[in-house]
Amino acid sequence: LAKERGKDRVELFEEAMHVSAFERLELKADLARAITSGQLALMYQPVVSLQTGRITGAEALVRWDHPRRGRLAPDAFIGIAEETGLIVQLGQWVLEEACQQLRTWQLTLPPDAALSMSVNLSVRQLEQASIVQSVRDAVDQFGLDPSTLTLEITETVIIDHMETDRSRLTALKELGVQIALDDFGVGYSSLRYVDDLPVDILKVDRSFVGGITDDQPTPVLEAIVALGGRLGVHTTAEGIEHPNQLSALKGIGCDLGQGYWFSPPVAADAFFELLMRNLEHGGFDTSSHDGED
Ligand code: C2E
Ligand code: MG
Ligand code: MG
Ligand code: MG
Repeated sequence: LAKERGKDRVELFEEAMHVSAFERLELKADLARAITSGQLALMYQPVVSLQTGRITGAEALVRWDHPRRGRLAPDAFIGIAEETGLIVQLGQWVLEEACQQLRTWQLTLPPDAALSMSVNLSVRQLEQASIVQSVRDAVDQFGLDPSTLTLEITETVIIDHMETDRSRLTALKELGVQIALDDFGVGYSSLRYVDDLPVDILKVDRSFVGGITDDQPTPVLEAIVALGGRLGVHTTAEGIEHPNQLSALKGIGCDLGQGYWFSPPVAADAFFELLMRNLEHGGFDTSSHDGED
């Protein structure tokens, strides 16, 4: 089942890559209305502890239900949103929606079950001084423990304004939220960033995970996870699609993982069902042979 949904996801992605110049113009004109008229939706992908198989959190991933084109993946519109500056408004909607959803789930779960939420932040949002107040407001408004909110920044785009970004990230971190470097390892200055920025989590780019063919980790993957350990930060592996990737990552002590093997991003209701089942069954089976619970 997970594999089938994964295939849908790939088709969605390929469609998104073929947006023509004309379509981009049209989408640009439509996007402002989309944000205010309820056309955005969040999907949630479970984040799983590789050692226990338990779901520890969700990553919120935005979709656009375009009135004529149907559901669009972020690759089709995040770039446009960044060009037009609408990403600030879009990102604000995502932040509030995700925080509200997290609080709802936290209040419904048994008291001993912890759940966190990851939200992707565009570097354009990070450029706004007001982002710190926005995050503080969202945390306060929904009564969240700030440590259960993670902000994911893609390190490839933190290039031009290193100083500003560092002080802004420090201010965010002082709110008590966690900072993750997304797609870690593919940016050309990854090691500089991880040394300079206040980071709690390295999200290892899925291209490294895809490089695992048998159940042996690649040397680079092993080095990244070891680096995380030395720095005292957690490592999350993206794009786990096969059980041998899971066991290789588990074997080198990678903390957390996401990927179609566990679940693709799903709607809120389906996520909650998955979470409840995961709690009942004591987690996904993360032993080396067969993985799904
Ligand atoms: P990301 O933050 O690195 O998110 C992971 C992407 O990998 C998601 O694509 C997810 O569906 C996909 N993925 C998860 N597991 C697997 C797997 O096992 N195999 C493969 N091949 N892919 C997997 P999605 O949802 O299309 O999002 C793409 C990117 O769009 C995200 O990459 C993120 O950079 C951006 N994005 C998504 N939502 C937001 C948002 O609310 N704000 C901003 N600024 N960017 C967002
Ligand atoms: Mg992310
Ligand atoms: Mg990523
Ligand atoms: Mg990405």
